[in-house]
Amino acid sequence: MPIENTARKEPRPGLIAAKPARKKEPRILAVIDQHGCTGCEACIVFCPVDCIEIVPGADFAQFQQVVEVDSERCIGCALCAKNCPWDTIPMLDYAEGIQAAPSLTLKSICGQKTKSDIEAVA
Ligand code: SF4
Ligand code: SF4
Repeated sequence: MPIENTARKEPRPGLIAAKPARKKEPRILAVIDQHGCTGCEACIVFCPVDCIEIVPGADFAQFQQVVEVDSERCIGCALCAKNCPWDTIPMLDYAEGIQAAPSLTLKSICGQKTKSDIEAVA
């Protein structure tokens, strides 16, 4: 029997997008390096603010899922990174993480913002 792909293929649903914003910018940020992510979901249960989402795999959308971090809600606690069995969640300096996210997160439907997007709003 084929394994069900539970990845969400549409943009972030309103209920997720409306989750409370963090109070301040974290010092470090979790960025999923999807090159190494197996979609095992182990990191998701450790996130205290529920900001890791399942998305379709970039190369195997029909049957593989990976995850990505909503960089607008991550508080930089590093629990996901410590518990990833594949060691594929680098904790980066916040500005570095914002810049690195688009290249490490191969297929972002989470709307990861680039540093220039954030600077444009500020
Ligand atoms: S624990 Fe690691 S390999 Fe598993 S879904 Fe999370 S980032 Fe991917
Ligand atoms: S660092 Fe903490 S808040 Fe950020 S994604 Fe990982 S578990 Fe969630």
